[in-house]
Formats: sequence, structure tokens, C-alpha cells
Amino acid sequence: MFGKKTFTLRFDQGDSNVRHTVLVAGGAGFIGSNLIRVLLEEGDRVICLDDLSTGRHGNISDLIAHPRFRFILHDIVEPFTLSMPVDQIYNLACPASPPKYQYDPLQTFKTSVIGALNLLELAREKRARILQSSTSEVYGDPDHSPQEESYRGNVATIGPRACYDEGKRAAETLFYEMHQVHGVDVRIARIFNTYGPWMDPSDGRVVSNFVVQALCEDPLTVYGDGTQTRSFCYVSDMVAGLMALMNAPEVLGTISDPVNLGNADEFTMLELAELVLEKTGSRSPLVHKPLPKHDPLQRRPDLTRAQNLLGWRPKVSLSEGLSMTIDYFAGELVASQERRRVEEGGRL
Ligand code: UDP
Repeated sequence: MFGKKTFTLRFDQGDSNVRHTVLVAGGAGFIGSNLIRVLLEEGDRVICLDDLSTGRHGNISDLIAHPRFRFILHDIVEPFTLSMPVDQIYNLACPASPPKYQYDPLQTFKTSVIGALNLLELAREKRARILQSSTSEVYGDPDHSPQEESYRGNVATIGPRACYDEGKRAAETLFYEMHQVHGVDVRIARIFNTYGPWMDPSDGRVVSNFVVQALCEDPLTVYGDGTQTRSFCYVSDMVAGLMALMNAPEVLGTISDPVNLGNADEFTMLELAELVLEKTGSRSPLVHKPLPKHDPLQRRPDLTRAQNLLGWRPKVSLSEGLSMTIDYFAGELVASQERRRVEEGGRL
């Protein structure tokens, strides 16, 4: 048996603005890198831990020189600790896009369960509050809509989505029991489909696929007949919700129970495709591809609990959020074309 790896980190002591020391596992990913930017703005020290399996160094490379930011390259499946105190831990470390989490399903399951356990042990050791990024996938293919937190879901223990869905369900149980048995201060956010800047253009999810396809004048790939629905939350709203949940006082009853975070405006994939075409001015056609196995037919959060408990509600409409996302991807495409031109020039 190998022991725990200890990471020794130092921050300048002189910064009087420091609020909390926050560990963000999965901080180089899409939601993590957006969250870290806000935490730094608010005066926190941030330790970003990521194995860069789906997270991208480019998402945080502009932060490396920040005096209140440190990066650790590590896989949360391997036990670890830190040499310094930590006040808050966000667990955002897991591939979340179906093609990415299905690529190495055993690793996805280990990350969801063993990784979560390792972070919970760290929270216990440091007496830190810990927030789990759970998912709307715990509801599976729901048989009613909207989905409220007490709904137990329609989920399969086997099948292509099970490594993620069941891994995240098991992780919720781990969080619950660490709270019951050891008194760890836990928060569980059930995150519904989220989109926005710092998404990986090759993520494989519907918003990134449609926007990149439209910008490149490639056909938009609609899976199935496109009548399945999702409810899309812009990432700044999601970050605000996660922080509100993390910072809600422990005295609030049931604060350790799961809370849905997302946007309740529901769209079919055909409606989304039309909106993307309208906003980009693209003439891309639609092509239909087979609907992936176990693809949920509808998904919409009931946000009553989040609103009552946190006073939080999403503010950004899909139309506004898509405009900002399209601008981001357009910039990314230009930057990657420029990099390719430089590389090709170097090889001549
Ligand atoms: N989808 C699609 N075209 C794509 C990618 C996804 O029509 O290029 C569909 C997918 O089948 C699902 C919905 O869009 O019904 C949302 O898929 P996504 O992978 O974004 O997230 P999910 O909610 O399924 O985890």
C-alpha cells in the first residue's frame, strides 16, 4: 500500500483581502475555471487541482501568475492531502459530457466514487466544508417533469450512461453518510445542463457541437427526431448558484440535502438548433443521427428548493447566453486557426 501524497504549497502571507482558502478539484474544466475566476475576484485563495484528462490547461493558463492561485496536477482517485489548511472544497472533478465520460467508463466510475471519497476524507481532516457537483443525471430518463429533489429517478445500473449516473448517485450517498457519521459539512448541487465560455469546443455536448458546427457551416447533428428536451443554464448563473449553496449557513435546516441548480426554461433540440442558426446567421443544414441509447427524453429542474433556501434564481436567458457563447467559440476558432497557421509555417 502506498501512503497519501502530500502537496506542499505556499501563498504570500501579506494579502489582507483573503476570505477563504478554497480547493477546486476539476478546476481546469468548464465550470471549475469559471468558478475560480469569480473566487479570485472575491478575494479567495484558490488551489486548482486537475489531472487535465478533460480539463484544459488553457482554461487556467492566464491565472498561473496570480498570487492567490496555485495549480496541482493530480488525479483525485489517488489519495492526497495538502500541507496547509483549507476552508472550502468544490468537487467538480469528473468528465461530464456523454462521449467523454463513456470513453473510459471505469475511470469515470472511480473518479465519481473513489475520488469523491478521497475529497471527503480531506474535508474531514481539514474540517472544511465540501460541495459535491452532482447532476440531473441522477434522475435518469425521468417519468415526470419538472424534476424535484425528492424524485428518486428512473435510472439504469447498466448501460452506457450508468458509469456516470450511478457513480454520481453513489457519491451522493457517500456525502450523506460522511455528514451523518462524521459530521462533515456537505453540500450537494444537482447540476442541470450548463453552457458558456471555457467549454471545450470538442466537448461533444449539444450546445458546443451546434455552435461550432454552425460557425464552421457544417451540418448540425440532431440526434433522434430532435423533440427531446433539455433546460440550459448559463455558466455565470450556475457559478452564482454553487457559491450561494457553498456559503449558505449551516444552521439552515436540510442544507446538506441535494439542491437542483439550473434554468427551468425547456427547449427541444430542434428549437435549440433553430436558435443557434438564427444567432450565428449560419446556413448549415440539419442532419439527423441515431438517438444514443438511454438518452433522456426530457429534463427540466424544479427550482423551488434553490429559490427558497438560497434566494437564487438564474438570470440569463438562452438567447443572451447563446450570444455570449457564440462570441467565445468564434474567438476560440480564430485562435486555433492562427495556431495551425503558425505551426504549418514552422514546418515549411
Ligand atoms: N445531442 C444532439 N446533437 C449533438 C449532441 C447532443 O442532438 O451533437 C442531443 C443528445 O442526444 C441529448 C441532448 O442533445 O438528447 C443533450 O445532450 P448533451 O450531450 O449536451 O447532454 P446530456 O443532457 O445528454 O448529458
